[in-house]
Amino acid sequence: MKRLLLLSLFVLALNSAFADKVKVRLFSNNRIEALYVSFDLGIYDLYADDATLLEPGLGEGLSVELKPAANGVSVAVNGYNYGTFSRVMLRATDTACILCLNPRNVKQRTYEGDLVVSTFDKSSLKIINEVEFETYLAGVVQSEIYGDRSDIFRIQAVISRTWALRNINKHRSDGYNFCDYVHCQAYQNRCVRPDIMLGTMQSSGETIVDANGKLIETPFHSNSGGQTANSEDVWRSALPYLRSVQDTFSFRMRQSNWTKVIPRNQWLNYFAKTHKLNIQNDSVKRILLSFSQPQRKAKILGVPLTRVRTDFKLKSTFFSVTTDPNSGDVILNGHGYGHGVGLSQEGTIRMVSLGISYDSIIRHYYTGAHIHRDENVSERYVANFVTEITKIIEEDKANPGKKKSKKDDWLGKLFRVRDRQDREEEFDPTKQELEGDISVEW
Ligand SMILES: [Zn+2]
Repeated sequence: MKRLLLLSLFVLALNSAFADKVKVRLFSNNRIEALYVSFDLGIYDLYADDATLLEPGLGEGLSVELKPAANGVSVAVNGYNYGTFSRVMLRATDTACILCLNPRNVKQRTYEGDLVVSTFDKSSLKIINEVEFETYLAGVVQSEIYGDRSDIFRIQAVISRTWALRNINKHRSDGYNFCDYVHCQAYQNRCVRPDIMLGTMQSSGETIVDANGKLIETPFHSNSGGQTANSEDVWRSALPYLRSVQDTFSFRMRQSNWTKVIPRNQWLNYFAKTHKLNIQNDSVKRILLSFSQPQRKAKILGVPLTRVRTDFKLKSTFFSVTTDPNSGDVILNGHGYGHGVGLSQEGTIRMVSLGISYDSIIRHYYTGAHIHRDENVSERYVANFVTEITKIIEEDKANPGKKKSKKDDWLGKLFRVRDRQDREEEFDPTKQELEGDISVEW
């Protein structure tokens, strides 16, 4: 029965968005000197240098300790040392498996999928999560945006999917696809919220393309402050779909406005020393002390505002300058947070709350772009997934105070439902030849 079940899951996967796995380096912003792994759901097989290290697999109650050593990774299970190996792998035996990772000195995180651990040197570990692409994306969406409506997550998912597909080889020379830090996209944990998974699944197979059908760059930022920026005013190239647009949806949100006070001399001397402006000249001084941006500008007296933003650690380049009548200090009154190019996340949150459609929001922020739907992603598969996860969300809403055990995690629930459906599906003998492609051993 198990053989049949895995086979049907595999056949299903061929037609679904789950077909591809990606390799993501975890804790890429930290140096990891020891990693403790425990198991929240499912059974994991432990491989060392591609051979099974122990039988049966590992599950709840067991823990693996991995440490860098002179010639590889040293492995201990529940305190018993198994030796040192160049490459250690924890492979999920099922679609619903969750690992809990506790590196020394870094906050605990949980992930789905497989884990491959090797070393950078004799004192640090290289930790790679091999995970289904859509599962990775749901984790990215959870790390990158806040909100409480699935359309918000659907939009972040289509943006993050488009970015990931364009940048799939970003870390190829390092031996993985992405890091888990903002250098690529933040992936700070597995997705623990069913509504985020729902939004991600609703955008399954969707990407954002330009008029020629090519994947676009999809930059986003927290809040535009009321007007987005042209790409060439922030970076080098002028892209036709990254045009400045009026964005009143970004008003009255958490990051809509900011203020910063800077001593008058520090402000003026900065332009004199760093940018060689003659601050003795009255008109230069007047502009520096009363600069305003009713519309976004790219420069102040020829100095790029992006440079000023970096040097003074400002939330945005969209600010005006006044002076305090008593102290003479410079007051910057700013709008928004981030580079301002592309989609405003808080503008999106506002647009979704006003009932504006998913497609219209994308078109508002990415001029002339549109959503492309991949015909190969099975609509039936997505629809089933959406139905089941919607039921789980409704159930959770109906029992708000219910204390949840690990077994009540939405992932476990979802896959129990799916496993039951698969068992009920009729066995198709013509698909037996696919068996050789399954690399899972049992
Ligand atoms: Zn990266």
